[in-house]
Amino acid sequence: MNLIPRVETRLSTCPHDCPSTCGLEVEVIEGRTIGRVRGAAGHSYTAGVVCAKVARYSERLYHPDRLMHPLLRVGPKGSGQFKRISWEEALDRTAAAFIEAERRFGSEAVWPYYYAGTMGYVMRDGINRLRHAKNYSGQYSTICTTPAWTGYIAGTGKLAGADPREMARADCVVIWGTNPVHTQVNVMTHALRARKERGAKIVVVDVYDNPTMKQADLALLLRPGTDGALACAVMHVLFRDGMADRDYLARYTDRPGDLERHLAARTPEWAAAITGLSVGEIESFAGIVGTRKASFFRLGYGFSRSRNGAVNMHAALSIPAVTGAWQVEGGGAFHSNSGVYRLDKRLIEGEDVRNPSIRRLQQTQIGRVLTGDREALRDGPPVTAMLIQNTNPVSVAPEQELVKRGFAREDLFTCVHEQVMTETARMADIVLPATMFLEHDDLYTGGGHQHIQLGLRLVDPPGECRSNHDVICGLARRVGAEHPGFGMTPRELIDRMLAASGRGTFADLARDNWLDAQPPFEEAHYLNGFGYPDGKFRFAPDWTKVPNANDGPMGPWQELPEFPDHWEAIEVATERHPFRLATSPARNFLNSSFNETPTSRAKEGGRPEVMVHPEDAARLGIASGDWVRLSNERGAVLLRARIFAGLRRGVLIAESIWPNGFFPDGRGINTLTSADPVAPYGGAGFHDNRVALERIGPVLEGFDEPVRAEPEPALA
Ligand code: SF4
Repeated sequence: MNLIPRVETRLSTCPHDCPSTCGLEVEVIEGRTIGRVRGAAGHSYTAGVVCAKVARYSERLYHPDRLMHPLLRVGPKGSGQFKRISWEEALDRTAAAFIEAERRFGSEAVWPYYYAGTMGYVMRDGINRLRHAKNYSGQYSTICTTPAWTGYIAGTGKLAGADPREMARADCVVIWGTNPVHTQVNVMTHALRARKERGAKIVVVDVYDNPTMKQADLALLLRPGTDGALACAVMHVLFRDGMADRDYLARYTDRPGDLERHLAARTPEWAAAITGLSVGEIESFAGIVGTRKASFFRLGYGFSRSRNGAVNMHAALSIPAVTGAWQVEGGGAFHSNSGVYRLDKRLIEGEDVRNPSIRRLQQTQIGRVLTGDREALRDGPPVTAMLIQNTNPVSVAPEQELVKRGFAREDLFTCVHEQVMTETARMADIVLPATMFLEHDDLYTGGGHQHIQLGLRLVDPPGECRSNHDVICGLARRVGAEHPGFGMTPRELIDRMLAASGRGTFADLARDNWLDAQPPFEEAHYLNGFGYPDGKFRFAPDWTKVPNANDGPMGPWQELPEFPDHWEAIEVATERHPFRLATSPARNFLNSSFNETPTSRAKEGGRPEVMVHPEDAARLGIASGDWVRLSNERGAVLLRARIFAGLRRGVLIAESIWPNGFFPDGRGINTLTSADPVAPYGGAGFHDNRVALERIGPVLEGFDEPVRAEPEPALA
């Protein structure tokens, strides 16, 4: 008898909302279960390295709380009381609710809602096909990328940058607005290689002393939202000390003379007062990037979480345009390569049947939409029916009090298709069990690199789990939605999309599992000109015409500065709310994904905490482990304090996102964040909150740390 199980190693792709989009090697045991997950050694960007949370993916796949069967709510909303029903009944009931909503208020009363719980094109974006085929309300996706992408494209005219593998051939890597040790570990692989092989300097700019900062040769600890001031002062020094590349500026940029004049007053002393840095630190930073042409600016999504994020991103991006770093290998900037793939998504998204007159509701304003805010509803009908896939807005969306009130509405029908019983699923009328990425076929592209990749079904789904595509097609049949994409398999959709995009076929891609789509060096470094018609980098962009898809200017866009600057559009601390809170990403969670696994929870210390500077803590009599209350005009949150010297006074960091159920009264950290649109095209300032901080004490009456986020749903 052979007792050694048969283990095959198969290639896949990490589906999570992380720019690294790692190539994976997955052990498949006896064709039925998965074992270890490793970074694919043959993937030139992943280079054999993945983060720990994905390396232990079997914990997630075989989690005892995975949803296995369709459920129907049988108790009050949010009570967690459900009974098991068949797929037929679940889809029939959902379709009937959509048809009824349409009959009463028109098709826009139905709002399919989704985001990036998977980044697969078929499983993430197929919901748009149903939306467009039925004229359901659209979604303007503002929760993540908009400010950062807008700020980057404002400068370059295009969302693409130098090959991120070139970090390994840089003489300086600037890691700014991202904590890759927590959020995209492969950045560190390439940056550390540059240091080891070339003696490159690593500069890290962030708002707290996180594990990435600990790797830095120069660590710059900023006050949140002051990146623009730092960038301006660095450029001031570059011009002042003859380190600006004037030939490059004349050939490749729009208004270098005006920029230099504008920066004359943006001295290191001016920036030091705003950022909290010393003049010496700013001068050192400028000296490093000014004397190392091959300085690679790796700019992250931290910029997206601030009201002045677009301006700050653009300001940081302007530095390599002043030094001319783009001209050399290992120099230039990178934020995302999402602009290089140009995949034709018409079949998957049903763009060909989209009615442009149908309203698009802002994703971040879901709380306002569901509580009847006229502006958020764009003066249209109420939303009375929803399908939610790949996101957990009751936890991750801003203005959580409003979001909860909205989902509690008795006249709102909600169907949530999920993997585990999230806070949002718990509020649903119908809950459908969803597959995980190793249980279905999909296609991915790397935001943080340049590969088109497959992730195919390697094991069977458990219980009655079905894929997003199955659910969309099942609903389409029942509500009378027509489109060729509803009659195709995921592999057929992928095949047709690749062919329509000039990227080969499914079979071609399946041979190696990934395709390197890196543009040539001259194009990636904009040596043939930047993405604007005149080929010039914009120091003075027209913020109303940045070529990033948008729903028109919003927020205080008229006040955007002409040139890179410190723009005080942030929630400045006041006497009543004297602290500035950032909700930075925890290493072992990915938004609300992974926060259901015991190992991730344990590695994050088992409970939500807020980091408080020792001097602030002493002034308020707060000891490590004390309960504190954070509050602002949007609500209040109770959690434990951790005394931490690695941040500026007046700054608080709450690494996130913990389940709401880990907070004593169920109010999660996004109770404090705002859905006010960020200029110029929308977004949410998740790291940009003024709050009050008060001590409660070492004990919170009647509350022990929970061992679970939520009780199991009771099956009637
Ligand atoms: S680093 Fe990001 S892409 Fe890579 S395995 Fe982890 S979550 Fe997935």
